[in-house]
Amino acid sequence: MKKITIGYLYPEYMNIYGDTGNIIALLNRGKSREIIIEVKTISTNDSLNSGEIDIYFFGGGQDSQQVFVSQNIQKYKSIIKEDISRGAVALTICGGYQLFGKFYRPYEGDDLKGIDIFPVETYASNTRMINNLVVQEDSSLAKQIAKIYRENYNIPTTLVGFENHSGQTQLLSGAQALGRVIYGYGNNQSKQYEGCRVNNAFGTYMHGSLLPKNPHLTDYLLTLALEYRYKEKVTFDALPSELALEAHNFIVRTYK
Ligand code: GLN
Repeated sequence: MKKITIGYLYPEYMNIYGDTGNIIALLNRGKSREIIIEVKTISTNDSLNSGEIDIYFFGGGQDSQQVFVSQNIQKYKSIIKEDISRGAVALTICGGYQLFGKFYRPYEGDDLKGIDIFPVETYASNTRMINNLVVQEDSSLAKQIAKIYRENYNIPTTLVGFENHSGQTQLLSGAQALGRVIYGYGNNQSKQYEGCRVNNAFGTYMHGSLLPKNPHLTDYLLTLALEYRYKEKVTFDALPSELALEAHNFIVRTYK
């Protein structure tokens, strides 16, 4: 059986609005696809070697947690950047997404340095953006996700989740969003684009947690991780996901 390793960044500091549910979704879906998945915690004082991690996961957190994490994560920066440049996968949510960017400027206090993977900058505002969030996937992302399935099955081209942030993220030139906002805010108050993608690293404001209601994205991340680890093309059979897709489609129907 094939094996992949998830690197869970700062679980005790960066994990709000059900973010750990993304790890559970990857584990369960991986099991249904006969993939062995190990989860390694990468926190305050852990070892990390280049090439060890297939999927980095980084949840959200309040400004107070981000102050500490922003300083501490700098020691892993070069290894994470190297891994992402070679095709390792990352899923980063809200506060984690912000710290994978250039910096997060809190409403008060000094800038919190990011690890500069996403070409984005985030500025806290006095508006809290709390909402359900529905996103139309960028067409290239939708095409890539459709290609992972051996047979044509009715997968959504939308992503759904829940957002709660004051940070307004600006995409810098060359940055690619995950998609267009159908409902909610996304990156900022302009309500236009949501998230960012660099290679196989994904940043999003979607908590909830994200993956249980977006089984197609879960599958896509697993194929990218297997391709990174085993250097061969991966395709999947459709997996029964009625409940997850029903939840997904209900949100899309409600807010579209
Ligand atoms: N503290 C950040 C903000 O408010 C991130 C919040 C979060 O992760 N939900 O924007």
